[in-house]
Amino acid sequence: MFDKVLVANRGEIAVRVMAACEELGCETVAVYSDADRDGGHVEYADEAYNVGPSPASESYLDQEEIIDVAERAGADAIHPGYGFLAENADFARRVEETPDLTWVGPPSDAMETLGEKTKARTVMQEAGVPVVPGTTDPVDDADEVRALGEEFGYPIAIKAEGGGGGRGMKIVRSEAEVDDALESARREGEAYFGNDSVYVEKYLEAPKHIEVQVLADRHGNVRHLGERDCSLQRRHQKVIEEAPSPALDDDLRGDIGEAARQGVREAGYTNAGTVEFLVEDGEFYFMEVNTRIQVEHTVSEEVTGIDIVRWQLRVAAGDELAFAQDDVAIDGHAIEYRINAENPAADFAPTPGQLTTYRPPTSIGIRLDHAVAQGDEIGGDYDSMIGKLIVSGDDRDHCLERSKRALEHFVVEGVHTTIPFHRLMLDDETFVAGDHTTKYLDRELDADA
Ligand code: ADP
Repeated sequence: MFDKVLVANRGEIAVRVMAACEELGCETVAVYSDADRDGGHVEYADEAYNVGPSPASESYLDQEEIIDVAERAGADAIHPGYGFLAENADFARRVEETPDLTWVGPPSDAMETLGEKTKARTVMQEAGVPVVPGTTDPVDDADEVRALGEEFGYPIAIKAEGGGGGRGMKIVRSEAEVDDALESARREGEAYFGNDSVYVEKYLEAPKHIEVQVLADRHGNVRHLGERDCSLQRRHQKVIEEAPSPALDDDLRGDIGEAARQGVREAGYTNAGTVEFLVEDGEFYFMEVNTRIQVEHTVSEEVTGIDIVRWQLRVAAGDELAFAQDDVAIDGHAIEYRINAENPAADFAPTPGQLTTYRPPTSIGIRLDHAVAQGDEIGGDYDSMIGKLIVSGDDRDHCLERSKRALEHFVVEGVHTTIPFHRLMLDDETFVAGDHTTKYLDRELDADA
């Protein structure tokens, strides 16, 4: 195992990774920007280094500085968490090429292949995995897009090669919208991901978002840990995630799990990853692979009892996965609520400020992943997440009952939060029945879907 791990991230995920390091007997190194001098992850780590000013581009995204700190601190591995540099294949390669440093993540080659959505689609198709109908090459011009619209039937989605979180994705409902949509998808792709290449997919009207957690070691073993249902989304961003999905039967569950395994095997993947699918009318279609630990990995941990971050570290250190696919059992139900400093009554606008009161719920069935305490500032420099509330129960109904109790006893003052919104969802018939699709919330909130 590693002696010392640098965690190139902040907030709850940095603390989550450090917790796993600690249990494995590794020392931890934090990096922080000027805004995070008093950050929870700085306090948690054994050592901490300032890597620059508050803007992420000058600190958490400064590849050179982070590698330099790792060397100075004598770290032997870097874990990127999620966001920031986590899916940056160039950074992964730099870490791989630095003597005495190990990248806690997939090989940079696999990240590169899967990070480009058209390449990923090709790999999956070769592995026999059904993909969302669409192109496996980038499209050149509006005429080509119109021809594809004819072929697949509208609506179609124009998606940025490097896109994610709904960014760089434009929905086209008729031929007349093609020109504008193409231009803005390219513009967003360039602005957010530095890549203006786009491709076209059939746009499904009412799918479920189902994703499969995978773990692969360097000895050829690939396991899946079942699925998560992330269908409750607002403008293509996940709001509540759960495991298992209320919408899958055992056959479909088994098929999707196996497809995910086949796909990552084909890509030469190791470490933890997520294969995302859209599911509609009992059919599943590959959408993309996320080559990192995800925000919502927690719910899979809760229902399988498998510590995914611990395995990320162990696999990166060369260990073999110690369990067979048949050993993975789904027990009970878990739901994650993202507690963000946002005002649900004002279009979920971020509301930075001080947590004048912060009293999270306790007791049976509750897991809280956070890196804040009462009196802390939720700044405006990074995302608005305060923490994640993960509730477990014997089954979904039990989990929902517990969630009511947990959210009722979660007291935050000083900033608006998403707590009142989550509480409303627990009284929402469609959500409670598990019948919601990715389009449900936008329709309910009357946002432009
Ligand atoms: P990410 O999963 O990284 O957020 P995307 O931007 O590709 O990446 O997708 C975000 C969300 O947009 C998905 O969860 C899904 O709700 C929706 N979406 C993406 N592609 C399609 C599609 N072809 N049809 C319908 N919905 C889609």
